[in-house]
Amino acid sequence: MTTSLPPSVYRDRRAAFMNQMTGGVAVIPASSAVRRGRTLTYPYQADGDFYWLTGLREPDAVLVLTPDHPDHQTALFIAPQDPAREVWEGRRLGVHDALEQLGVDAAFSLDRLGELLTRWLGGMRQLYYAWGALPEHDALLSKLWSRLGSRALPAPTALIAPGRIAHELRLRKSAAELAFMRRSAAITAGAFTEARRWVRPGGKEYEVEGVLIGAFRRQGAEGPAYNPIVAAGAHATTLHYERNDGPLSAGELLLIDAGAQVGGYACDVSRTLPIDGRFSAPQRALYDVVLAAQEAAIARLRPGMSVQAFHLAAVEVLTEGLVALGVLRGASADLIAQEAYRPYYPHSTGHWLGLDTHDVGEYQPDGVWRTLEPGMVLTVEPGLYFPTGAGTAFDGIGLRLEDDVVVTTDGPEVLTAAIPRTIADIESFGTEGPPL
Ligand code: MG
Ligand code: MG
Repeated sequence: MTTSLPPSVYRDRRAAFMNQMTGGVAVIPASSAVRRGRTLTYPYQADGDFYWLTGLREPDAVLVLTPDHPDHQTALFIAPQDPAREVWEGRRLGVHDALEQLGVDAAFSLDRLGELLTRWLGGMRQLYYAWGALPEHDALLSKLWSRLGSRALPAPTALIAPGRIAHELRLRKSAAELAFMRRSAAITAGAFTEARRWVRPGGKEYEVEGVLIGAFRRQGAEGPAYNPIVAAGAHATTLHYERNDGPLSAGELLLIDAGAQVGGYACDVSRTLPIDGRFSAPQRALYDVVLAAQEAAIARLRPGMSVQAFHLAAVEVLTEGLVALGVLRGASADLIAQEAYRPYYPHSTGHWLGLDTHDVGEYQPDGVWRTLEPGMVLTVEPGLYFPTGAGTAFDGIGLRLEDDVVVTTDGPEVLTAAIPRTIADIESFGTEGPPL
C-alpha cells in the first residue's frame, strides 16, 4: 500500500484551507529533524499540519499560502539538492521535483524564504503562523517584522494560528485517511497476536516490546506511532511507563499500550492480559468494570452527541463499579460530582486520533463541547489504577482497555475490534501455535 495520496488530494486540502483565510499569508513550516546526541537525529516525524497540506516528509521545508497573490497561491520552499550531503542523508526532492510532484504553484530554494516572504507580507493584514512552535522560524519572522516596520509597507496587524483552520479540517477523516487507519489497525492486531505468545511467567517486558515493534515493521508499517507501553504488575499504574525493562510474573497482569503508524496515521490500542493466562477473581472483577465502562462509552460515539458524553458514560460505570467493589462508599451521583474516582481514574476517556496520536482539534470550541460528526475518530480508553500503597484490595493493579472508533451514521465503527477484548477471548487468545 502506498503511504501518500495523489497530489490532487493535497491541492484540494490547500484550497480548502485558503478558502477559510481572510486574505493574508500563511506560513506553515515542516518540523526539523530532532537531534539525538551530537551528530545524529531521531527518525523524522513530519509536522501534522504541514504533512496534511503537502504529503511531503522532508524536514525544514516551508509551505507559504498567499491566496491574493497575482501569480501563485501556493509556494513551497525546500532545501536545494546537495550531492555532498545527499551521500549521507539520501536524496532530497529539490526545487524542480517539488514543483513537478507536489502540485504547488511555485517552488523556491529555502534560502530565498526571507527575501520573498518580506515581499509577500508587506501590506498584508493577516499572518497565519503558529508562533512559538519552531524557534528558528520565529526568529526569521521577527526579523522580517522589523524590516517591514522600517519600510513604507506596514507589517501585518493580526497573527492567527493556522491550526484554527487546519485542525478543524483534519478532525473529519476522509475515506482515504480511514483506509490508512484501518490498515494501521490490522497491522496492530497482527502485532498483538504475535506479542501475546511472549506474555508468560519468566518473560520480560522488553521482549514483548521488541516483538510488537518488529511485527509493525514486518507487516509494512512505518513503525510504532508512539513508544509502546509494556507494563507488568504495578508498573501499569504509571500511566506513561516506557522503561519496559521489568520481569513478567505469574499472578500479575500485563498492560500493553501500542499502535502502528501507516501513511502517517496512528493506531492506539491498550489491552491488559493475565501473564499466566488466567485472570484471578479480583482482576476479573476489575476487568468487568473497565470493559463495561468502555462499552458504555463506545455507544455514545454517534453523530449529534456531545464529545463529552462518552467520558461521562465511562465515569458513571467506573464509579458504580468502584462502589460495588467496596473501593468507594456513597451514592454514585455524589461521588461523580466530587470526582471521587480520580485517584483510580485520573485521565479522560479518549482523544482524537489521526496523524498525531493525540490528534489535533478543539474539544470545546468557544467553550462549548463539540458535537460529534461522521468521520471523527476517537480512542476509548477507560482504566482503573491502584498504585502500591493505595490502601485498597486491588493495590498494584493497573488495567486499561483502549480501542479506536470512527463516528459514522451507522453507529460506532471499532477499527481495532479484531483484537480480543472480552475475558473469555483474552484467556484463549494466542494459546495456539508452537511453543516459543
Ligand atoms: Mg494508548
Ligand atoms: Mg490513547
